[in-house]
Amino acid sequence: MGTHPAMDHAKTPPRSASGFGDGLDQPTLSGAAALGHVVRPNAIDVSHGTILYLEDVTVSFGGFRALNKLSLTVDAGELRCVIGPNGAGKTTMMDVITGKTSPDAGKVYLGQSIDLTRLNEPQIAQTGIGRKFQKPTVFEQHPVWENLELAMKADKRWWASLRARLDRAAQARIEHTLEVIRLESEARRLAGELSHGQKQRLEIGMLLMQQPALLLLDEPAAGMTDDETMELAVLLNRLRGTCSMMVVEHDMEFVAALAGETGRVTVMAEGRVLAEGSLDHVKRDEAVIESYLGR
Ligand code: ADP
Ligand code: MG
Repeated sequence: MGTHPAMDHAKTPPRSASGFGDGLDQPTLSGAAALGHVVRPNAIDVSHGTILYLEDVTVSFGGFRALNKLSLTVDAGELRCVIGPNGAGKTTMMDVITGKTSPDAGKVYLGQSIDLTRLNEPQIAQTGIGRKFQKPTVFEQHPVWENLELAMKADKRWWASLRARLDRAAQARIEHTLEVIRLESEARRLAGELSHGQKQRLEIGMLLMQQPALLLLDEPAAGMTDDETMELAVLLNRLRGTCSMMVVEHDMEFVAALAGETGRVTVMAEGRVLAEGSLDHVKRDEAVIESYLGR
């Protein structure tokens, strides 16, 4: 730590826009569909290894503090799991990151230099933060394929940069995403006919079409069968290296499948971080046992 400009108020020296093109946000496409030429207007500077930086973030609703000096850092490329009791402030944290809620105090940075508190919700979406809500929001009346196509067209950067080779490259991208979300065989079906788990995967695919640098997922396994939950864990594990992720979840088996033995897990309670470390580490933490896991 001590490397973030928001921490020491140091001015960020000008750097080459190296946050992209280092493999972190590049979907693994090959040949003509390679995306190396896509230019991001607001490249995220992850040269110090941090994609998301929160310091002393406070949000009050009336007199109640939903977030109470929340500080948290997510590394570039990391898949971070966040757990904690209902009302801990997990969703509020995502609201702050995405600009839905303005914090009363504190710092929220994407990479080294993008101060998210100065941007509104659409501007934040443009920086490359994608958010998956609990309820899947797909275009039910459209085939799966078109859902992905529409999501891609919503990304103006992509659209503008590819005119000449749009058809072929776009098709390759959609096919690649279908494979990632394992819906190849459902491509022509209406999204409304999919199972809940398939809809959730489709929505993740739609987010991927916009090439997020950071993907926020709020209880993505809620309402899923055990099989669907494990399939989602496989999918998210496959996305490692494509984007950084923050996953809020209650299902401990799902969290275990994502965190493995060494992945960092953050436990939130009462609007702040209660504990952080490997799943094994936080499960043994007295305060966590007391407030969340129970005895
Ligand atoms: P979690 O996602 O961890 O369950 P939330 O972030 O949804 O927690 O909520 C944290 C606390 O803030 C809860 O006590 C909730 O009731 C309160 N809260 C969230 N949003 C609002 C709001 N818009 N107005 C008032 N209270 C809110
Ligand atoms: Mg919540």
